[in-house]
Amino acid sequence: MFSKGSKLYGILRWRCPRCQEGDLFKTGIGGGVYNMHKECPKCKQDFELEPGFYWGAMYIGYALSSGYMLIGFAICLWGFKFTPTGSFAFLIGLGLIAVPFLARYSRAIWLSSNVRYSPRIAEAVRAHEANKNIKS
Ligand SMILES: [Zn+2]
Repeated sequence: MFSKGSKLYGILRWRCPRCQEGDLFKTGIGGGVYNMHKECPKCKQDFELEPGFYWGAMYIGYALSSGYMLIGFAICLWGFKFTPTGSFAFLIGLGLIAVPFLARYSRAIWLSSNVRYSPRIAEAVRAHEANKNIKS
């Protein structure tokens, strides 16, 4: 399920959905939440398939943040015995850290739901990288 070639592998590691070798984002989350490459640095897969492509990721982000609040609220209320107000305050505070990650995951999910993994291209990218390492 988490092995290379599965959708989840690419999503959890923020990798190109086609080759799963190139990074989706230029920097860590501190360098900007949406600081994405225009195309895969390894296989040249376009990351913006059409103008406004990531508007669709908003719906994924909405689902992820709703799930975060609902599940988090249930855990705080019944698991940790917080008051309802305390649960909301805790989740909003934790959300300041969680929301940038959810935003990146929503983009990764949206892109990987529109681009299929290609074992042939992944193999070509790995072969190219290995060849580059031998030469240097
Ligand atoms: Zn790629």
